[in-house]
Amino acid sequence: MRRVVIVGYGMAGARLADELRRRDQDISITIIGSEPHAAYNRVLLSTVVAGTMTPESTRLHDDRWAAEHNIDLRLGQTISEIDRASRTVDGIPYDALVLATGSTPWVPPAEGLVEDGKLAPGVVAFRTLDDCAEIEAKAKKGMPVVVLGGGLLGIEAARGLAGRGCLVTVVHPVGHLMERQLDPGAGGVLARTLGQLGIEFKLNSLAAKYLPGDGLILDDGTHVPAELVVVSAGVRAETSLAVKAGLEVDRGILVDDALRTSDPRIHAIGDCAQHPGTVSGLVQPAWDQAAVLADRLTGANPAARYRGTSVVTRLKARDVDLAALGDVHTDVDCQDAEVLCFQEPSRGRYAKLVLRDDRVAGAIVLGAPDAAATITQLYDRGIPAPTDRLALLLGRALPAEAASPADLPSSAVICRCNTVSKGQIVSAWRSGAETLPQLAEATRATTGCGGCKDAVCGLLDWLGASQPASA
Ligand SMILES: Cc1cc2nc3c(=O)[nH]c(=O)nc-3n(C[C@H](O)[C@H](O)[C@H](O)COP(=O)(O)OP(=O)(O)OC[C@H]3O[C@@H](n4cnc5c(N)ncnc54)[C@H](O)[C@@H]3O)c2cc1C
Repeated sequence: MRRVVIVGYGMAGARLADELRRRDQDISITIIGSEPHAAYNRVLLSTVVAGTMTPESTRLHDDRWAAEHNIDLRLGQTISEIDRASRTVDGIPYDALVLATGSTPWVPPAEGLVEDGKLAPGVVAFRTLDDCAEIEAKAKKGMPVVVLGGGLLGIEAARGLAGRGCLVTVVHPVGHLMERQLDPGAGGVLARTLGQLGIEFKLNSLAAKYLPGDGLILDDGTHVPAELVVVSAGVRAETSLAVKAGLEVDRGILVDDALRTSDPRIHAIGDCAQHPGTVSGLVQPAWDQAAVLADRLTGANPAARYRGTSVVTRLKARDVDLAALGDVHTDVDCQDAEVLCFQEPSRGRYAKLVLRDDRVAGAIVLGAPDAAATITQLYDRGIPAPTDRLALLLGRALPAEAASPADLPSSAVICRCNTVSKGQIVSAWRSGAETLPQLAEATRATTGCGGCKDAVCGLLDWLGASQPASA
């Protein structure tokens, strides 16, 4: 029997164990995780900070999961060494080893943020359930809080804290927010919208010095009051085990299309892995990689290859609807693409669409959920955009082929927070989950940001109209 050992019980490691067991009842699976908790959906942590979800409801597995699936799960244990010659990790033997060690928060080099190798009192990272518990315990109504970093996670943290009544300032080193996913125009509209929700911004600013209990001094000398500093300034792939074992590492652990590292018995998936052409730091690539690797390790499909993932990013922040996908940085005057842009800052709306060969190559849709839903469908399915581009941008175009749930492929992702596909919803419905709450319970769809509720209701209507539940 093959022994698969997975280091890291986060979103990638947990998914891989599920995928392996689904394909093979006998393969030996050991999974070791540093955190003391069962794996949870890290994507939903901002909803925990916002107080709209409990830590318990983010869990990916319940307490019985390991025993029921015959998995040797070791929580609260950090692997310190891979012995490639004896094929063991801290003495645990493997035939195939999978590194799913994720990433760790990057802390800006401001004086005083770190003390004796640890975050100083009053400074908290935003990566784990324990970080959320610390933020929840410390953040009080009316308290001045600084969030370091105006990327996706920083904005989600800021919105959650503002919702709790904190006086939030976001300090961001770039001239506009979420520069990975947004162009300057969209970043500006987003800042304005969030400003109306009480959040302040210091853009083009670096934290220079942290004064505990008092605040931050920025690089231009400005003082920003803060009794709590939340660090959300980016992540670094956790590669220390791989480096120590002599595997090839760049920004992440280098892997090929078979998700093999430079040692063919060792694989890497998720945030810690660096695959050519893949955007790291997002869950969809991690879960796609888990499926490919499970196919290979169980022999279900030894030829399976990972070729990259088209990523759609959604901001999970109350009162702000934002989706970004594909190539968003192409300018309106670009010659080899059709680029359309519409903005209405006073109503918090911004839409940009990049089309190549009549298909959606990229988009930013802020404050227009209907347009976001249609454009995302067109992008996911690679079908031609309707000729009435303006209607599409304004959310008034529903091309027949994109509108009908019947035409969506089974693999189409409906709930992005929980990565629930149409196929999973259909099979849950066939197993008796015929109402929205029952479907949410069975699949977790709609339990994240809630942005997929209309799509799930559309599927429910379609299922109800097209076939009896027991069919
Ligand atoms: C607040 C927040 C919001 C996010 N929102 C989104 C989003 O909207 N969309 C999106 O796509 N992505 C989002 N992400 C990113 C997403 O969560 C990650 O891409 C995903 O968690 C990667 O999964 P992973 O398993 O590779 O890493 P992780 O989930 O970080 O898991 C790695 C695990 O390995 C453990 N580990 C590390 N080293 C060892 C060791 N030596 N021994 C044992 N265990 C070890 C760690 O403790 C950790 O539990 C968000 C992240 C955060 C923090």
